[in-house]
Amino acid sequence: MADRGFDLEDRLEALEEDDLKRALSPVDRVAERGYFAEPSGGELPVLDSEEALVFASNNYLGLTDDQRVQDAARQTAATVGTGAGASRLVTGDTMVHRDLERLLAEVKGTDRALAFSSGYAANVGTITALEPDVVFSDELNHASIVDGCRLAGTETVVYDHCDAANLRSKLEERAERVRGDDGDPDAESWLIVTDSVFSMDGTVAPLAEICDAADAFGAWVMVDEAHATGLYANGGGVVQAEGLEDRVQIQLGTLSKALASQGGYVAGSAELIECLCNDARSFVFSTGLAPPAAAAASEALHVARHGGARERLWENVAHLRDGLESMGFDVWGDSQILPVVVGDRTDAIALADGIRERGVVVPAIRPPSVPAGTSRLRVVPMATHDRDDIIACLEAFRAAGEEVGLL
Ligand code: PMP
Repeated sequence: MADRGFDLEDRLEALEEDDLKRALSPVDRVAERGYFAEPSGGELPVLDSEEALVFASNNYLGLTDDQRVQDAARQTAATVGTGAGASRLVTGDTMVHRDLERLLAEVKGTDRALAFSSGYAANVGTITALEPDVVFSDELNHASIVDGCRLAGTETVVYDHCDAANLRSKLEERAERVRGDDGDPDAESWLIVTDSVFSMDGTVAPLAEICDAADAFGAWVMVDEAHATGLYANGGGVVQAEGLEDRVQIQLGTLSKALASQGGYVAGSAELIECLCNDARSFVFSTGLAPPAAAAASEALHVARHGGARERLWENVAHLRDGLESMGFDVWGDSQILPVVVGDRTDAIALADGIRERGVVVPAIRPPSVPAGTSRLRVVPMATHDRDDIIACLEAFRAAGEEVGLL
């Protein structure tokens, strides 16, 4: 009989041969200040194993370890339960979800917000629900945006990274083409989508210029603030920092980075949220966000808004960037993500290994995750790193950099 199954062994071997195979590696976390202990081999907890300073977490404000955030999750688990038990549209809706959505809408300056079970689900659900005729997408946008476009079967026009002039010319080209076909460009729905902070390059999208281009062509703008929410003005993202609430139709992100929880959200007009409640399949056909996750995110957003964590994070970012640049490292970006670009992949791996030997974890990012010749170490400080931690990180970079011959 024919074998109509799947040769998974071959597939895995091919990944191994290409040096692309990835594996899960559990760590015993000691959350405060980004410390973790080496993998325990499955036995928890192992608090006497080697500890390392981590500069590689998206827990930017260190709030996964905040007592208030943990208490919110604990109390909600005890009173509301650990899981939503059903889709929000059936019996999974709770006041905890409503509180989170009210707070998100307030911070984002929108009519309403809607919580999803992940940022991935928020992107895929929103783009497929809107069914745009054309999406204009930054070339470095997150995979969940790319997958949303694929699933929606929409025509996707990719523009150069953070290049509003290139975006404008793509909008113009499209308008010309439709007119040339005797069509009416105004009859098409166009969505411009961009991350606000890009996770591998640390770049910040030129949102005001993107909005100008959108306005000139009547397109909508959707901004993924996964790496920005909680870190900018009033606990918002770059949209808030630049006062663009009225020009960005869709703000969206994750609850899993600065907001120390799990889940995603979309914020926008009442009509948008009403449509997503009906048409976003990743919302309609998926169990509601776990109430403790919603409560933790609400509390984290409150702390991000009113506490001093944001200021501490940005002080740490400035200290690290200054230190790395003054040693002569090439540090890209203009956000809390500091990519130290060394170029060659073997140099990047050697530098990361040397830093690790000195008790600091900063992963090397290499092709195919980034273009050849731009291998880098992605340094991410947290609000909970103290001055000594920053100095330890800088010293590890100096010693390992000299050892590898990069300084
Ligand atoms: N958008 C961006 C820009 C992201 O970086 C991520 C997470 N890596 C997501 C969306 C997906 O969010 P989540 O992890 O909540 O699915």
